[in-house]
Amino acid sequence: MSDSFWNEAKKYRAIMQIMVAGFIPFGMVVTYVWIKMFEFNFNFIVPFIGLLLWYLFYLRVVNKFKSSVCPKCGELAFGDSPNILTKMNCIECGLRNE
Ligand SMILES: [Zn+2]
Repeated sequence: MSDSFWNEAKKYRAIMQIMVAGFIPFGMVVTYVWIKMFEFNFNFIVPFIGLLLWYLFYLRVVNKFKSSVCPKCGELAFGDSPNILTKMNCIECGLRNE
């Protein structure tokens, strides 16, 4: 039971890390492709929407991660911890993934 909790948490954290790391490259690629294809004939609404969707998806994953309930104490395990990308222990009871 605890294992699946940590598997979920790790999965979400991995997605968040990839999305944070990928945000700038993704934005550059989308912008580059857009310029190559349309040579500024249009405005930047499409790259902008791409990045916005990326960001919204990221927020969704963050929300799911933050709503993970600790299998030991039943509280929100990660709450509003500012270290969600690095720390992996319950802020309420300190349950760790060992
Ligand atoms: Zn806990």
